[in-house]
Amino acid sequence: MKAVASQIVQQMPPYLFSNLNRKKETLKKQGVDIIDLGIGDPDLPTPTFIIDQLIKELEHPENFRYSAFNGCPEFRQAVSDFYFKHFQVEIDENKEVQTLIGSKEGIAHLIQAMIDPGDFVLIPDPCYPVYKMAVHLAGGKIFPMPLKAENGFKPVFESIPIDVLKKAKLAFLNYPSNPTGATVDIEFFEKAVAFFKKHGIYIAHDSAYNLVTYGDYQAPSILQVDGAKEMAVEFGSLSKAFNMTGWRIGYLVGHKEIINTLLTVKSNLDSSQFLPIQKAAAIALESDLSFLKERNAVYEKRGKVMCQALQDIGIETGPLKGSIFLWVKVPESMTSASFCERLLEEAGVVVTPGTAFGDHGEGYFRISLSVPDERLREAAGRIKQFLMK
Ligand SMILES: *Cc1c(COP(=O)(O)O)cnc(C)c1O
Repeated sequence: MKAVASQIVQQMPPYLFSNLNRKKETLKKQGVDIIDLGIGDPDLPTPTFIIDQLIKELEHPENFRYSAFNGCPEFRQAVSDFYFKHFQVEIDENKEVQTLIGSKEGIAHLIQAMIDPGDFVLIPDPCYPVYKMAVHLAGGKIFPMPLKAENGFKPVFESIPIDVLKKAKLAFLNYPSNPTGATVDIEFFEKAVAFFKKHGIYIAHDSAYNLVTYGDYQAPSILQVDGAKEMAVEFGSLSKAFNMTGWRIGYLVGHKEIINTLLTVKSNLDSSQFLPIQKAAAIALESDLSFLKERNAVYEKRGKVMCQALQDIGIETGPLKGSIFLWVKVPESMTSASFCERLLEEAGVVVTPGTAFGDHGEGYFRISLSVPDERLREAAGRIKQFLMK
């Protein structure tokens, strides 16, 4: 028989840390108590008012039929209302919103819709791995924009070579950031819009953590920048915002033609999300968002526990302002991979090596705060003990 996988799938970058996963499974089978701080998936439940709405919507048989390809009017209106109330940005619910089956799906399809073989896509390094995989599948070329501590984990646009800028079509940004936890203010987005506009490059901002913020910090939307809608789109998701990862619902807003191009691809490949899920998600976005205060306080408390444990042994972490991640330096004598392997073997704690997110993640590991309080406390203690050895 012929090869099952296409050339392009055969050439997909391998997942570097399958051996770490294997080791985790082996240790678990041996009865070792493993604490997994590797996954970014909220442990807290979806708020009851959203679940109640889902149940209500299930009583209406008209909700069991196909949705419009761009999503139901109630959800698109809710996204538009949310942008106006939360960011003071006007969004046309008919032309500037696309409903997504989670933003992961949207990111992959957007790249397919915009990128031809050979086109460059500018991608933060380290970053959420989906951007890279989707560019690979589209036959595009990746140009990494390094995120370094000395620059606040923000890309230095001026250092991108001019010949890359000429061939690049799209740039990805993501704040609050996975994996670095870094946040930005509106001035950064102003700079990004001005820079990429000058070079005719579109921006896709992934704002998966826009509602997961701490203290007084509020994450801005790139669409708050004047003229951003003429060249930028923003991904949003209910997953981390409302503890709804498994529900699979998100949205893309902004530049009309990009929205429409994504619709062209999606209308041929999928038929949108189940209507009761869209309508329950609409209620979430239309709510007063008071739920966030308590939920974010839970993450903030966990973050402080972990930061304190690390500080006790002289490891400084960045300020805790957004996302569910801490981005922490590994000790000088170890690589990201060797640190994570030893932490698993010797302390039974899983964290993600920085290099899982790109070459510039070397020297770091990522801690996810999405585990119950007492487990996180226990993990903090074990990490501290391990590092004191
Ligand atoms: C979790 C995550 C997503 C995916 O969100 P879904 O809407 O659940 O697909 C997208 N981007 C980043 C940076 C994430 O961490």
